[in-house]
Amino acid sequence: AHLDRMAEVEPKIQAFLHVDRETTLEQARAVDARLRAGEKLGPLAGVPIAHKDIFATRDMPTTAASKILEGWRPPYDATVTARLREAGLVFLGKTNLDEFAMGSSTENSAYQVTRNPWDLSKVPGGSSGGSSAAVAAYEAPLSTGTDTGGSIRQPASVTGIVGMKPTYGGSSRYGLIAFASSLDTPGPFARNVLDAALLHEAFSGHDPMDSTSVDAPVPSVVEAAKNPDIAGMRIGVVKELAGEGYQAGVLARYHEAVQLLESLGAKVVELSCPSFTTALPAYYLIAPSECSSNLARFDAMRYGLRVGDDGTRSAEEVMALTRAAGFGAEVKRRIMLGTYALSSGYYDAYYGQAQKVRTVISREFEAAYQQVDVLVSPTTPTTAFSIGERTDDPIAMYLADLCTIPSNLAGNAAMSVPVGLADEDNLPVGLQIMAPVLADDRCYRVGAAVE
Ligand code: GLN
Repeated sequence: AHLDRMAEVEPKIQAFLHVDRETTLEQARAVDARLRAGEKLGPLAGVPIAHKDIFATRDMPTTAASKILEGWRPPYDATVTARLREAGLVFLGKTNLDEFAMGSSTENSAYQVTRNPWDLSKVPGGSSGGSSAAVAAYEAPLSTGTDTGGSIRQPASVTGIVGMKPTYGGSSRYGLIAFASSLDTPGPFARNVLDAALLHEAFSGHDPMDSTSVDAPVPSVVEAAKNPDIAGMRIGVVKELAGEGYQAGVLARYHEAVQLLESLGAKVVELSCPSFTTALPAYYLIAPSECSSNLARFDAMRYGLRVGDDGTRSAEEVMALTRAAGFGAEVKRRIMLGTYALSSGYYDAYYGQAQKVRTVISREFEAAYQQVDVLVSPTTPTTAFSIGERTDDPIAMYLADLCTIPSNLAGNAAMSVPVGLADEDNLPVGLQIMAPVLADDRCYRVGAAVE
C-alpha cells in the first residue's frame, strides 16, 4: 500500500532519492518468513520505514544527496539501519536531504527539490526534508532523520509531524555519514508521539562501534508516551525564544499550547536563558569547523566520483577537480568557513570562542533544569517558507534554526510536536519540548499530553 501511495504522489512530492520496489518486497517477504518460523520480533516488525539517505544501507545506495557519492553502495549497514532491519522493519527507500545535511530546506540537495505536502510551493524543512515530507504525505508511516542543528525538529514542525532529537550519544553515529561529529544525532519521525517512541526505542542504546555512544539504559520513552500525565510537572517558557521576529500565527498556537499544558496541571514559569541568542553564530562556526575536517575523506580515491583521472594528472589535481565538481555551493561555503575558523592565528578568535559560548549555553540549560523539568519554545520562528525564498541568503536560511540549535550545543533531548495551523497561512506550527541529557522520556510525556 505504501509503495502504491509513493507511485501516486512522488511525482509531486519528490521525497525519495532511491526507491526499489523489488528490494522492499524482498525484505517484507523475509520478515514474513521469520515470523512464520516463530521468531519473536519487536512491535514494529513488518512496518515500513523510509531512511534519510545519510545512513549506510547495504542493499541500497547512499549518497548524502551529494554528487561526490553518486552511485556509492556501502558494504555495510549503519547501526541504526542494522537494528531496524533486525527488528523486522521494511525499508521503503532513501529520502532526500540537503547535501551532507547542510541546510534547512532540502534545496541544497544535488538531485532534486522536495515539496511540502501541505503546500507544494513551500519547503518541507531540512536537512531531513525528504523524511519529513514522506511521512506527512502518507508515503511512509515512519522515517529516520539526523539532527545536527535542528534537522529533525524543524522539518517535523513545518510538515506537521512529530520529530525527536534524542540525547547526543543516545543513538549511534556508526555508519552515519559524518557532518559535525560532536553534534550529529539520529532520531525518529512519525505522525504521533507513541509511534515516534516505538521507533526511538527500536534503534537506540549503547553501541561499542561509536566512541561517543552513551553507555546507559535507553530512557523509557514508550512508557512515557503511553502515560501523558503531566500534573505537577514544572515547565519553563524560554523568554528569549519568542517575541519579536516570530510569525504571529506561530506565537498564537504556541501560547495556546502552553495554556493547555497549564490546564493539564503543569506549573508554567517564565525563564531567561540570555546566551541562547548567541547559539546560532557559535553553531555556524563549530559545525563548519567539524565538517571541514570530516569532509576531507572525500578525496576522489576512496569513494564515488573521480574526475579527470586520465593518466596525465597528479592525484592532487584529480582531487581538486573531483571536489570542485562533486561538492555543491553550500558544502564548499562550509568547508571554507571551517578551514578559516580553524586556521592558526584565527583559531582562538573563532573556534575557541565558539566553544566557550557552547559551554555557557550548557550551563544555562543546567541552571534552568534546576528549576524546571522541561523547557518549551516554538520549534521555528515561522511556518514553512517558499521554495527559492531563502536560497540566495544563507543568513536568512540559518535563522530557521534559532530555537533548535541550543539543544544541539548542549547535547540534550528535544522534540517537536504539532500544535495546529497558523491563521495567516494554514501551515503547521510545532511546539519544541527540551529536556535534560538522558531525560528523553520527559519530551514524550509532554508531547503526548499536547498532541
Ligand atoms: N540548518 C542546519 C545546518 O544547516 C541544520 C543541520 C542539521 O541539523 N543537519 O547546519
